[in-house]
Amino acid sequence: MIPNRKKYLKQQAQNGQKIMGVLPALYPRELLWAFDILPAEIWDPPGDILRANAHLQATICPIVKRGLEFILKESASVNAGYLFPHTCDSLQNLATQVKDLIGTSQPVYTFYNPKAQFNKTTRRYYLDLLQDFQTTLETKFGPLNRAKLMAACELGSKIDIRWLTLQNARRADQLELTNPEYFQLVRAGEYLKPEDYLTLLNQVEVQAGPVHQSNRRLLLSGILPPHEETLSFLDELSVTIVADDLLSGSRRFPITQLDTPVDPFEYLTDRHFLLPPCSTRASNLKERIHHLQKMISESQVHGVLFNIIKFCEPELFDHRFLVKTLKQNRVPLLSLETELLPGISGQDRTRIEAFIEMLDEQVSG
Ligand code: SF4
Repeated sequence: MIPNRKKYLKQQAQNGQKIMGVLPALYPRELLWAFDILPAEIWDPPGDILRANAHLQATICPIVKRGLEFILKESASVNAGYLFPHTCDSLQNLATQVKDLIGTSQPVYTFYNPKAQFNKTTRRYYLDLLQDFQTTLETKFGPLNRAKLMAACELGSKIDIRWLTLQNARRADQLELTNPEYFQLVRAGEYLKPEDYLTLLNQVEVQAGPVHQSNRRLLLSGILPPHEETLSFLDELSVTIVADDLLSGSRRFPITQLDTPVDPFEYLTDRHFLLPPCSTRASNLKERIHHLQKMISESQVHGVLFNIIKFCEPELFDHRFLVKTLKQNRVPLLSLETELLPGISGQDRTRIEAFIEMLDEQVSG
């Protein structure tokens, strides 16, 4: 039911669709849609890392390595440039390297998201940033059509609303989706055209009541979900991930439903500042823990699974505090480290099994 990413993008490119490769994570997708550009996000492209290592330190996270490897391959589908949002120092450095040192046949764009503390000044900065980005895109793709931007915001708003509904349904066990199916659905938004993504989200049936009684419920936190084999292994153990605090997932959707867009730039700014707290936005740690605790209690989870990407500085910085505080609050948790390799290691299987046993003891005790 979900189109294969590679085939879908190839088909779109053959149809003349403008496609921009977008590195993680936050960017004004609606502005790109208004220029008829399809963002194809580059998080964890598969395959061996062959050429990228020559340009990067050994202690760089695999998202940056895989992103560079993808760029060096000069994908035929990406025909409208690359966009590097300012997510972390590693991605910012990569943007400079690709633009000024390594070079690519495609134009390179940057988008310097503000970091916390958020106030009137950062809001003003973000509005200016949007307008600057508009001007940059106009030099290459022609004048912005305001009506198209408005329509893009309305479409984005519908996606956000539907996403919120599905997220709530997942928490209430009202979706008949396995762990891999749920995250495939979430991640399809990384490459589908917005109208196709909305159609897909609308096709997912929300059942009237719980479809199963999951008594092994987890909240997943990190940048990306674990590999599909790990997610399937959790299904085998009757564990359901009912809520997420992922940068590639819920951290990119507003906490509450926004009003219908009236002014597109104001709407996009409101949306940005209504995103949940996140390590990559330098959110206050107390805010983050408060948000996590709220999700834990609202989703009635039994524990938290952290999926930490090796060498991810922003996440590692927060992780220590989050773990310490959750432990103090007697929330069971397990931290896995990933290098974004396929499959699941024997060690991870054992650790997950031991964690679930411990959860069962706590729940029954
Ligand atoms: S995994 Fe962490 S360090 Fe790597 S690109 Fe993402 S935020 Fe940056």
